[in-house]
Amino acid sequence: MVPGIHRPAHVRVDLAAIRHNIKAEKSHLEPGQKLFAVVKANAYGHGAVRVAREAVKAGASGFCVAILDEALELRKADLTQPILVLGVTPPACAGLAAAADISLTVPTLAWLKAADQELTAANLRLKVHLAVDSGMNRIGFSEDADFLAANDFLQANPHFDVEGMFTHFASADSSDDTYFKQQVARFDHFKHLLKLKPQWIHVDNTAASVYDKGVKSDLVRFGIGIYGLNPSANPASPELPMKVKLKPALSLESELVQVHTVVKGEGVGYGSTYLAERDQVIGTVPLGYADGFIRKFQGFTVKVGDCYCPIVGRICMDQLMVRLPHAMPVGTKVVLIANDPAAPNSIKKAADYVDSIHYEVACLLSDRLPREYY
Ligand code: PLP
Repeated sequence: MVPGIHRPAHVRVDLAAIRHNIKAEKSHLEPGQKLFAVVKANAYGHGAVRVAREAVKAGASGFCVAILDEALELRKADLTQPILVLGVTPPACAGLAAAADISLTVPTLAWLKAADQELTAANLRLKVHLAVDSGMNRIGFSEDADFLAANDFLQANPHFDVEGMFTHFASADSSDDTYFKQQVARFDHFKHLLKLKPQWIHVDNTAASVYDKGVKSDLVRFGIGIYGLNPSANPASPELPMKVKLKPALSLESELVQVHTVVKGEGVGYGSTYLAERDQVIGTVPLGYADGFIRKFQGFTVKVGDCYCPIVGRICMDQLMVRLPHAMPVGTKVVLIANDPAAPNSIKKAADYVDSIHYEVACLLSDRLPREYY
């Protein structure tokens, strides 16, 4: 999708906030504990390369991404730090990853054997992290026999450099620790089975680290915290006290491109789902669901100039309409998502409004919205 550089609509990213969040997190890490910046999904919609560069400035030692292409994008941008691909990469791509010095996740013994064939043919050595499925039931080793056989296979194999072993928690953001503790116990069991000595054994995501869950982790895979967002995504659960004070980095801004009066009884937008109760001033904003600002935002309050105004009528693919308290000039600034966590249109409030999580709201913002950095 081509970025819309000739329209007034963009995602703004506060790079000082990104640096602040990483430094704040780093300030409470154990001596020797590393921070890997999770910049998958275009850095949760913030722009992977720019965020990765700021992360390095702020002290990140490496990166985590979800897919190999995201890792290659960072290498292409001359980022030389370690990169771990967290998802399952097709074993046929093992050579490509090895050649670019990118570390891959090992989910099963079968994957390892298939990757070995590629590496043998290309005579390359691949850095890997063993994934342990301790309860997420997503990827990784969950059977002792498979894990032990993988260890034996790796001990004797010249094509792999076992850099790490990790697991991922399903509920590190919850105040109920029951499942979390079961996962820790399961991971400890696999740690005892381990016959290799990886450099990094890691479990912490943002939640496990900032809520100080107290589990040893040689590196923190710091994701949502980079962007200044609370990892507790559940609107129903009380927010746990965080060790670090985070600053949200993202805002979504646009302008009014047309302002007009609709007379009482007229409809606004497709299906005329909103009917003017009296003569009303309507402003049009040039972005819509094709930008990732989904239709469920109908009725959400956004800031127009100094006023908070509701979105009225259905959100169109490329435009939406707001009800203004009075006429305002074309060009008036519209903040659809604010980076102030206390604002009625904060990203958290936006996520709650559409029954989602702020991770999803940020990731959905499409490439048609240019990212502006300040
Ligand atoms: N580690 C793994 C394996 C992940 O899948 C993710 C995110 O989904 C993270 C770390 C980062 O999590 P967070 O953004 O909650 O810090």
